[in-house]
Amino acid sequence: MSLSEIERRLHAAEEKAGRTRGSTTLIAVSKVQPDARVAAILEQGHRTFGENRVQEAAGKWPAFRETYSEIDLHLIGPLQTNKARQAMELAQSIHTLDRPKLASTIARLAQEMGSCPDLFVQVNTGEEPQKAGVLPSDADAFVAEAIAMDLPVKGLMCIPPVDEEPSLHFALLRKIAERTGLSGLSMGMSGDFERAVALGATHVRVGSAIFGERTTSG
Ligand SMILES: *Cc1c(COP(=O)(O)O)cnc(C)c1O
Repeated sequence: MSLSEIERRLHAAEEKAGRTRGSTTLIAVSKVQPDARVAAILEQGHRTFGENRVQEAAGKWPAFRETYSEIDLHLIGPLQTNKARQAMELAQSIHTLDRPKLASTIARLAQEMGSCPDLFVQVNTGEEPQKAGVLPSDADAFVAEAIAMDLPVKGLMCIPPVDEEPSLHFALLRKIAERTGLSGLSMGMSGDFERAVALGATHVRVGSAIFGERTTSG
């Protein structure tokens, strides 16, 4: 599928949900994609991208930034504390704030650097043991804790379990966001972004539907 086809579907979903056209940010997830494919999307004027790994992002985006201005990079993969500084230098948003240790590290670095990316708290809506994110029952307290550290928490993020109806998870994430007074909702991927838009997503993370299938796992 092409970028313009995904944009068309996104706008149709916004319209159907009675939302303003363009109110959802389309994050093109470029992890493990060949540079030529990423360059092709940049050439079409798209500037908002998502990467899973700090290392991979660091190897790829500084060079693209020399050619293309105003790139808006979102880190959407798990973040180790010892990579926080590098992540903050590279990305304009981090979607995977999920534990107090990481929050305090980012808060300390933000003080030191004088800036901080926009942050999303990842919620493990499916309560899957192998998955990152705070549990729904811990989300309110963790959001409050992060805000008390003066962190720029903009919203919540989730990755629903693969074998469950994602809409249930999107609705739960929205409920927690309403409860905690957050407006950002990072939810929806290639297979379900229209359902996420229907439930209020402000950011959708779409990889394979734009770039084609990944040849290795990300
Ligand atoms: C890879 C990834 C995506 C994109 O997945 P697609 O199914 O290729 O659209 C979205 N969010 C996260 C967190 C990812 O790791």
